[in-house]
Amino acid sequence: MQNNRVLISGASVAGPALAFWLRQHGFTPTVVERAPELRDGGYAVDFRGASLRVLERMGLLGQVEAAATRMGDVTYVDGDDRPVVVTPATYQSGELEVLRGDLSRILYDATKDDVEYVFGDSITGLTEHARGVTVTFEHGEPREFDLVVGADGLHSNVRSLVFGDESACRHDLGYYVSIFTVPNHLGLDHVGRFYNEPNRTIGVYSARDNTEAKAMFWFGSAALEYDHRDVEQQRRIVEERFAGVGWETSALLEAMREAPDFYFDSASQIKLDSYAKGRVVLVGDAAYCAAPLSGMGTSLAIVGAYVLAGELAAAAGDHTTAFGAYREEIRGFVDACQKLAVGNGKWFVPPTRAWLRFRNLNYKLLPYLPWRKLIEELPLKAGNAITLKEYAAAPA
Ligand SMILES: Cc1cc2nc3c(=O)[nH]c(=O)nc-3n(C[C@H](O)[C@H](O)[C@H](O)COP(=O)(O)OP(=O)(O)OC[C@H]3O[C@@H](n4cnc5c(N)ncnc54)[C@H](O)[C@@H]3O)c2cc1C
Repeated sequence: MQNNRVLISGASVAGPALAFWLRQHGFTPTVVERAPELRDGGYAVDFRGASLRVLERMGLLGQVEAAATRMGDVTYVDGDDRPVVVTPATYQSGELEVLRGDLSRILYDATKDDVEYVFGDSITGLTEHARGVTVTFEHGEPREFDLVVGADGLHSNVRSLVFGDESACRHDLGYYVSIFTVPNHLGLDHVGRFYNEPNRTIGVYSARDNTEAKAMFWFGSAALEYDHRDVEQQRRIVEERFAGVGWETSALLEAMREAPDFYFDSASQIKLDSYAKGRVVLVGDAAYCAAPLSGMGTSLAIVGAYVLAGELAAAAGDHTTAFGAYREEIRGFVDACQKLAVGNGKWFVPPTRAWLRFRNLNYKLLPYLPWRKLIEELPLKAGNAITLKEYAAAPA
């Protein structure tokens, strides 16, 4: 096996999942994560289709199922908290739903004994030469690796270093989302309550067996200029956009100030003609972010990691062959998942009162519409838009 030493940037979902499979195939992965420790917080993420089969092959499906959110219906309410329409659990929660932080912890625990994790550091330079890549870090000493993988999310550092500026491959869908943990002050029991005003959606759903809740703020907007690292500035953007909005909004905005895990980003997709350059390759959101509106980002990360590691093993570590095969295997799946997000925005964040009424009417009528099954099966179809190969594990 050539190219044994693999450096992975990012320890969320794609990074630890890739480390898991690389170990299975006899490689020696190292994971570097910018955060000082595993990032625990996060929203609920869904699994659909092929990703569940990958979890099963990892032997982790049972653990993920045990951590499932067990979310029920979502009720859309008016300003006085009166139900307008109820949508069933499957619309929001896929086949299996888990908090991103819990998933990350399961993947980390499954790998930490045989994988080197370096927290609190970040790659600053990558110099490729005939036999490998010299990597420099913000804090650690320079090191040699055979291959480097960017699993560092939508704003991937590895991608910027190797593929150039993010603006060339990031496609904003015209929405922003903020999400954070709040007290479960509405006493929700495994359910969600969402409220809309034109161009804005505010949602709360209970989490961790109702001991807390996640608040979610979505708004439609042209591209905003802000600093990705400046949380205070991002909080102010959310406050400004939701000032004067009804229902529970002001209480949730107040709770946002105390939230330990405030998150804010654009709903964006990453589109690249190639996921690799030389000895550097991308996986997960760094390579093909589908945007939260697709509900498929975690599935893509888990399946992408499985395929990338499998193709490297099948090519006995020959990165040129493996990286080409990885893209060929996964591109149809990526396209199907990314397509899902594009039409979803108007349904989730209706732009006008007329659209809001139209959306609610559709949700009310959906159980009686002949094409209901077709609509409901769309996400599952995307989740199954790949036939998983069997990749033989390295002999123990
Ligand atoms: C609100 C919201 C809801 C979502 N809902 C769903 C859903 O229902 N279903 C679904 O499938 N997906 C969902 N997603 C998407 C899903 O969370 C991501 O697609 C998935 O987590 C991708 O994982 P990743 O490991 O590729 O990237 P990320 O989870 O973004 O992880 C990147 C990691 O890299 C680290 N990092 C960043 N920069 C550096 C650096 N310079 N050096 C080292 N490390 C670095 C970060 O700290 C992080 O740990 C949702 C996303 C959001 C925002």
